[in-house]
Parts: sequence; structure tokens; C-alpha cells
Amino acid sequence: MQVLKPQAGRIAESGQSKADLHELDQVLAQVLEQTGEAIIVKDLNAVVTYWNREATALYGFSAHEAVGQPLRKLHAADLSEVEYARLLERVRAGRLTSSSTERRKKSGEIVRVDLKTSPLLDAHGKLVGEITVARDVTALHRTEESLRGNIRALAATVRQLEAFHHDGKTLSRMTELLQSCTQRAEAYSIVRETSAQLFPHSSGSLFIFRESRDVLEYAASWGRSRAPEAGLAPDDCWALRLGSPHFVPRKGAIRCRHAHEDADSYACMPVQGQGQTLGLLHIAVEVNPRTMRPARPIDRRLHALTDRVGPALANLKLRDALREMALRDSLTGLYNRRYLEDALIRELHRAERGAKPVSVVMIDIDHFKQFNDNFGHDAGDFVLSALARAIAKSIRPSDIACRYGGEELAIVLPDASLECAQERVAQMRVAIRNTNSTHLGQALPPPTASYGIAVYPKDGTRPADLLRSADQALYRAKQAGRDRVCVAGQAAHDAS
Ligand code: GH3
Ligand code: MG
Ligand code: MG
Repeated sequence: MQVLKPQAGRIAESGQSKADLHELDQVLAQVLEQTGEAIIVKDLNAVVTYWNREATALYGFSAHEAVGQPLRKLHAADLSEVEYARLLERVRAGRLTSSSTERRKKSGEIVRVDLKTSPLLDAHGKLVGEITVARDVTALHRTEESLRGNIRALAATVRQLEAFHHDGKTLSRMTELLQSCTQRAEAYSIVRETSAQLFPHSSGSLFIFRESRDVLEYAASWGRSRAPEAGLAPDDCWALRLGSPHFVPRKGAIRCRHAHEDADSYACMPVQGQGQTLGLLHIAVEVNPRTMRPARPIDRRLHALTDRVGPALANLKLRDALREMALRDSLTGLYNRRYLEDALIRELHRAERGAKPVSVVMIDIDHFKQFNDNFGHDAGDFVLSALARAIAKSIRPSDIACRYGGEELAIVLPDASLECAQERVAQMRVAIRNTNSTHLGQALPPPTASYGIAVYPKDGTRPADLLRSADQALYRAKQAGRDRVCVAGQAAHDAS
């Protein structure tokens, strides 16, 4: 064994016989074969001079094939010029190194090896080559890699859980706030704040169905989204048409009409509560063009948001409806007397600040007792509600019409002068006269009514005074023959 000669020489110097040395060579050769590690010795040109059995097991080349060959032709065939030059440089520098790398076996298979190199010196201490001890760590490496992969997956799960927990807290807070809301505008602001927290790098808008359900009104937005000029028709949105979320990737073709002008990806989420679609959340989120869905955490967040906003808004709507019911008369749908009195206080304050007039009109149906006697109480109810509808149609949304009691109605006209109130009353009388009522197959004559008008501040500055003035004017209209208008402080007009 050539490679062992220098060591053997050194031993010889320590006074061993030639026979002993030969025996020692034999022993060392066996030791090297049995170490269980691949041992490769090469000269300064990286040409193999020794190759043990483990090296054969590791790389597949027999000692016969390997000895006399440069590493280039063996397991280092894959190395680039630069890498091979570096290897040669290392061998010639006589460095102790330790590394982990990949090598190609004779069969073509890749193995992961841990390499330890040490310089090989001759009897005079001169560098003559390099000894490499190589160990196959492929299996270990794979285990490590898969462990690392598992750790990465675990870290991602932890991050997701943390985000999920954070989302949960944000959403619970929103639900809590929404439950304590008294106005829809407050609710919309809360939804906007929460959405901006859940989708901080995004923008979006909330639209809510109008009572008529023919259009959705803009309610709130965050990020770059701005209030649109007009509302949104239900037909303009695929999510509303389908009743389920609609996701559109960047440059996606099946865009909603309300989002046709940009090329960004987005999600449209119907907001549903108590069995009804109440509105729509339109949010700019990344949508995968292959799956046509957002990433799982975003998808979950979108659903979690709309699943909570829907019932909360439905509750608020229900509360509004109940409050509204407490303020309105059930037969006519007009406000009740309590509401009118509160509203009149408010309106007079406002009028005082703005130095504006407020008109009050009192209306009483003529000979209604007789009407009931002639046609029955149900027919009377029927006519009363028809008359209320005719009156409600002839006033502005800011005017307040109420059933003051029995067949008596009162109307508050903010910002209306006497002339304006007279004009409005004239319209009401025409509307009432043109009401064609048929009850249970019986044609009913349109009722006539008497009217009393009082104007703030001339006829009273306090609500009770103003109402009394209007009532007195009404009384005079009755006295003067009914079916006419009387203005506080003036003589009764003739019936027209
Ligand atoms: P006047 O022209 O002087 O106002 O005569 P009138 O018969 O309308 O007046 P009166 O105060 O004597 O009677 C009011 C009638 O209005 C009596 C009542 O039966 C009727 N009335 C009041 N509320 C209702 C109602 O809710 N439904 C029906 N059908 N009738 C009502
Ligand atoms: Mg009456
Ligand atoms: Mg009456």
C-alpha cells in the first residue's frame, strides 16, 4: 500500500524490523477497510491513490476503477470548472476542511455526503496529497429537510392561528358595538372601521338596499374607494343576482357592471340577515385566476365579516321598524299625536334659530259620524286611510302628517309661509276629491273636510298655542259651513 509507506517509514525509524513493518501494513490496510467510513486518498492532482471498500459502497466505483483516476472522472464529475479548480486548490493548500455537499454516484444517483479532509504528508513532512473521510448523510439530510419543512408549516399554522385569533377579537368587538348602535349611520361607520382593520391594504365599500329594494345606496367605504355618483342597481352585481359571493381575478372577464371600469381583482359579498339580502360588501382583494377564489385566510375573513354584519344590520333594521311602529298610527300609517308634538317642539326651535316660518294645518272630516252611519264603520275606516294616503302624497318628505285623534289630522309644514300652506291645502283638497273609493263592491263618495291654518310666529310661538290657533281656525271653518279653509285671525273662505 503506497499511501501507507510514509507512516510505515516513520514507524521504521522508531526501530521496527522489516517483517514487523510488513505485518503492520497488513493490519493498517485491514483497519482502513473496516472503519465503516469511506476513505479516499488522492495526490496533489486529485488523482485517487487509495479507495476503500466503504468508498465503493458510497460512490459505486470499485477500487480498481477508482485508483489512478482523477476525481473529475469519478464522483466529482458534476463539479463546474470553478468548483473543481477550488477543490484542487484546497488539496494543494493542505487544508483541514469539513463540509457537507452533494456528489453523483456511478449509477447517476445523487448522494449527500459529509466530507472531512486532511493533508497527507510524506516522511519529511512534505505535502503529497489529501485524505478524505466521507459519510453518506442522505437519509439524515432528508429527515432534516422534512423536519425543517414541518417546522415551516407549523410556523405558518401558528401565524394563521394568531391572525385568526386577532380577526376573532376584531369581529367580536364589531358585533358588540353594532348591538349597541342606535342609528344606521353609526353601524355603517363601525363596519367601515372593522373592514379597514381586517383588510388594511385593501379598499372597499358597503351598499345597503333602499326600502323600495330597487336600488342599493352607498353606505360607507375605506381605502381608495369613494362614494359612487349614483346608487347601485341589484342587476349591476353578479353576487346580488346569484345570491352568493362573486370573485373576480385581475382582468377577469365576468365583472359586475358596477366594477367594469377598473381591471383590479375583487370580491362582492352579499350581506344577508333574517332571510333577506340587505346589502353588498365590495372589497378589492387578490383573487387567484386558477381557483377563482381569494387565498384561504382572506376567504375566511370575508365570510366571517359578512356573516356578522348581516344579522347585526337586520337587527338594527328590526329595531328601526319597531321604533317606527311606536311612532305611527296603525290605521292610517301617519305619525301619532305624541310624535307630532315632539316634532313641533323641534321644528319651532329650528325655525326660531333660522327665523323661518312654520305652518300647522288642522283637518277634520265633515259629518263623519253620518258617513259611518250610512256606510258602516269599516267603510269609514277605509275612507279615513284612503284620505290619509292622499294627504301624505300631497306633502313634502320634510313635512310631518299625523292622526291627531279620531277623524282629525294635523300637519306640520316646516319652512312654509301662509301662502305656501294654503297652496298645499288646495292640493290636498283636490287629491281628496279625486280619491275613488270602492269598499266591498260599494262606491263611496269622497268625504269633504274642514281646514284650519296657523303660522308660526304670528299665531303662536309655543307648540300648544300654535295648535290651539289652528284648531280655532278649523272650528270657524266648521261654523262657516264646512268643506273650507280658515286661516287663524282671518274670516272663513268660501268652499271651493
Ligand atoms: P263634523 O263635521 O262636525 O266634524 O261632524 P262629525 O260627524 O265628523 O263629527 P263628530 O265629532 O260628531 O264625530 C266624529 C266621528 O268620527 C265619530 C266617529 O264615529 C268617527 N270616527 C272617529 N274615528 C274614527 C275611526 O277611526 N274610524 C271610523 N270609521 N270612524 C271614526
Ligand atoms: Mg272631529
Ligand atoms: Mg268631523
